[in-house]
Amino acid sequence: MKKLILLLFLVLLVTGCSKDGNTLVIVTEAGFAPYEYYENNKIVGIDIDIAEEIAKRLDKELVVKDVAFDSIINELNSGKADIALAGMSITAERQEEVDFSIEYAVSKQVIVALKDTNIKKVSDLNNKTISVQLGSVADSYVTENFKNAKLIQQKKFLSAAEDIKGKKADCLIMDELPATELVKNNPELKILNIELFTDKYAAVVAKGNTKLLEQINEVLQDLIDSGKINEFTINHTK
Ligand code: GLN
Repeated sequence: MKKLILLLFLVLLVTGCSKDGNTLVIVTEAGFAPYEYYENNKIVGIDIDIAEEIAKRLDKELVVKDVAFDSIINELNSGKADIALAGMSITAERQEEVDFSIEYAVSKQVIVALKDTNIKKVSDLNNKTISVQLGSVADSYVTENFKNAKLIQQKKFLSAAEDIKGKKADCLIMDELPATELVKNNPELKILNIELFTDKYAAVVAKGNTKLLEQINEVLQDLIDSGKINEFTINHTK
């Protein structure tokens, strides 16, 4: 009897954890409003609205998984998740590991700092302490371009914001729309008027997952053409 219970428990454990044919597992990092964030204990956002449309089109039940941003690619390549929708920017390095869909948003990287910051131009970033999200494009950008800067790599943007408020960091580099949301909730911070670089968001799948990628691209194109992505963006930035 004990063995039977144990066996039943193991079966439940295995089936409960693995993907089955009827679910579509989306992986994201849900500290990135308006793209993915918690509202009443539920993950919502522009990317989640897109994920729901993809699941609907594929006739699958949507499962949203929240992980650290730097684990997302591994989630795809180990088969634990089907698609990443995480405001993920297309980069040449990532393209070596995963496949990107067509782009669904254009973003730019901005500097967030205390209102009385002395950062006035890009070169002021040298010798500064800069907080970023671990594994983000800002992380690589600072590593490659500001060898004399001190880098703090946080898992969550909220922790990076705390670094600035607590004066552990001089600034934070991140995507514009999420930065706007962050500043809305932290009035002591502002976005500096300094150009860094632009980037483009796409959905991501494991390398060679061509069929799924084609299906995603069809849905994304429809959502772009019908103005739905704009609508989702307006809804989540109100
Ligand atoms: N767009 C940035 C990147 O791809 C940050 C994304 C995020 O933190 N969710 O690196």
